Amino acid sequence: MANASLVIGNWKMNGNAALTRSMTDALRSAQQPTDSVKVVVCPPFTLLGELTRHCYYDNIAVGAQNVNANENGAHTGEVSIEMLKELGVEYVIIGHSERRAMYGDSNDVVAAKTAAATAAGLQAVLCVGEDKQQRDDDKTWHVVEQQLQAACEQLSAEQATKLVVAYEPIWAIGTGETATPAQAEQIHAQIRAWLTERFAAVGEKIEILYGGSVKADNAAELFAQQHIDGGLIGGASLKEDQFVAIVQAAR
Ligand code: PGA
Repeated sequence: MANASLVIGNWKMNGNAALTRSMTDALRSAQQPTDSVKVVVCPPFTLLGELTRHCYYDNIAVGAQNVNANENGAHTGEVSIEMLKELGVEYVIIGHSERRAMYGDSNDVVAAKTAAATAAGLQAVLCVGEDKQQRDDDKTWHVVEQQLQAACEQLSAEQATKLVVAYEPIWAIGTGETATPAQAEQIHAQIRAWLTERFAAVGEKIEILYGGSVKADNAAELFAQQHIDGGLIGGASLKEDQFVAIVQAAR
């Protein structure tokens, strides 16, 4: 029994209008009346409106892959929290390693986005994780703890009720190499302890997702771990059969 509660698909800079329809159709036909797994699809900004039109029911929600922490104003090319909310977006991925590495999302930027999104009532999916060198140097927990510390510094317990943490070891993203269930569980247990220490009872309930080469054939084993509450899925979230199978593995 996996008993995971949340599966999020991160389409990255992929997808089109046809996929918003075929993916929601596939998820809908696989859904069961008693389903307790929440599914979130995060397409690029341009497809958010199209996707929300297909997600008018129950356990499927729409998420963005990024947001600007500022209020509406002179920020050419950016998208605000207010804009996401107007579209019916409920989740936003913050601090994905690709954004940290390529688009200047430092720990400070990630903290500002996390604070603004959770204050506005969006569910912030905060991504943390180490690279290969840091793992080899035995610095995994040090890196993850620093990322958590920076992002959570300004958060109240109430804001933390809007937080989801995704542990995504960078060496496992898009590489086909996943953390073993035991490797992932070890860090998830440390994240759980840290969140509980920081936010008490609220921290115990924050969902902690694993991400990094999750596929239909390894999802069940990962989701069966005590502190793995679901997954953040990249490549496999673009294929209807794979993504549906991963959602089914979470039940
Ligand atoms: P992947 O990506 O599943 O393709 O490894 C995960 C992610 O980047 O969120």
